[in-house]
Formats: sequence, structure tokens, C-alpha cells
Amino acid sequence: MKLCRFNAGRLGIVDGATVIDVTPALDLLPKAGYPLPRHDLFIEHLAEVRARAQELAPTGPRYPLDTVSLLSPVANPGKIMAAPVNYAKHLEEAREQAEIHHNNRIEEIRRVGLFLKATSSLAGASEGVSIAHPGRRNDHEAELVVVIGKRVRNLSRDTAMASVAGYCSGLDMTTRGPEERSLRKSIDTYAVLGPWLVTADELTDPHEIDFSLTVNGELRQRANTRDLVIGIVDLLVFAASFYTLEPGDILFTGTPEGVGPVVPGDVIVTDFGGIGRMTVAVHGPRS
Ligand code: MN
Repeated sequence: MKLCRFNAGRLGIVDGATVIDVTPALDLLPKAGYPLPRHDLFIEHLAEVRARAQELAPTGPRYPLDTVSLLSPVANPGKIMAAPVNYAKHLEEAREQAEIHHNNRIEEIRRVGLFLKATSSLAGASEGVSIAHPGRRNDHEAELVVVIGKRVRNLSRDTAMASVAGYCSGLDMTTRGPEERSLRKSIDTYAVLGPWLVTADELTDPHEIDFSLTVNGELRQRANTRDLVIGIVDLLVFAASFYTLEPGDILFTGTPEGVGPVVPGDVIVTDFGGIGRMTVAVHGPRS
């Protein structure tokens, strides 16, 4: 199933070029009081919400997909984890190009592990990316994103995939420069997630996904997730050896070669097999 969040916090099933409004399915969620849980309630209760959404679908209002505003499919992730340089050819280009590495030592992922992006950097496709420092180089990084479905710690390779709720496409937007990744990649709107969540039962082989990214129609990135240096199973095992993974936690799996700059006015389009197309406008600084 493809589930989207749209307009003012509505829930939809994506059916081809149509969104079916199934927002009343969210009434199943427990009412949270302060202190709020540090995980996403929609993803925690995804199975029940899905079942109710399916019941509501035949009578739900329908809207053309291109008329709705798409929000991040996960509203409240407790953390956004990300894999750096997880495609060999991107490691090569990052080491070769001074504008990418800025004299930072680019280490392979087996040495550097993961990094975190601030949850405040999360944005949906229709919100677009707002470039905070237009005088600097700001790059697109197309990445397959894994959404965690359960509370887990110390996963084994055999059980890792059972912790996955589903997948999204993502943009790990990056300001190039000498500072820490967590600073340069956590600017507001620099973690784009969307266009919707594809549940794990529908996208059964995340290690065979063709994907591409264009800017203003020009092809910049094209790859297949089979070329991940560390695949999803091992990323999950590794992450869960450091952090308790919670429902709604987000894992950016890394970008392939072809990263490059965008400027306000550009339009980024990603296309992931089994997920679909995501269009993201690039804006100037937020006022
Ligand atoms: Mn990245």
C-alpha cells in the first residue's frame, strides 16, 4: 500500500494518479499527552491504521494526486539516521573533487559509520527545499529511505528486515563545506521525505531498486540499490547496535555518484522503482 500525508495533516491512499482521503483512520491513534512519545504514533500503529484505511477507501473522497500538497509521510520521527558515502563511485567522486570534500578526510562507511540529521530538517515533497546559504554549494543526494516499524535493539541479520515498516524516496540535501555533516545536512528542509510511504509488503526487494534524479530535466544521478556498499540489512544491524530503533525512525541509505549543486528556481525530480516520482522545488532562504 502507498500511504501519503497531504494538505493539512490528512491521510491518503495513493491509487495511481488519485489520492483517496482516509483521514478518519487516524482516529485509532492513542491521544498523546505531555511528555509526548519520542516515536511516531502513525507508524507504530500502521497495521491497524492500514486496515481501517482499507475499509474507508471505497467511500473516501478522491482527489487528483497533482492537486494535493504532499507532506512528509512520517510526521514525527524520533531520529533521522543517514549513511555517508555508501556507494563506491560516490566515494571516488567525493575524494576527487575539492568542492565536495573541502579537505575533510572522506573515509569509507565502514570506518565512519552513520550520522544523524536533525528532525527539524524534515520536509515533504510539496514543501520544497529552502537554500539557507545560496552563496555556498548546495547539493542534491537522492537516497532510498527506510522507515523503521518497531521498537528494536541489537538486531540480528535474520530478523532485521522484519523491523522495516516501509520505504520512501529521500533527498539528503547538503551544504558543502568544512563543517560537521550534522550541521551542513540539518538545515530546515534538508531532509526531504516522500512522496509517500510504500509499505514493506509491497516493496519486497529494496536491494534491486533502479532510481534516478534529474534537475530541470537534466539527468544527474542514476543507480541501483544493489550497489550499496553496506546493504539495508547490515545498516539496520549496525544502527541497532548503537541506538534503540523506534517506530517512525528514518534511515537514509546513502547516495550514488552524480551529486551536484542546485540553486533557487531549480526543480528536482527523483524516480524510484516501486515507489514513484517525487518533484521538489528549490527555493531561496526562508524569511
Ligand atoms: Mn547522503
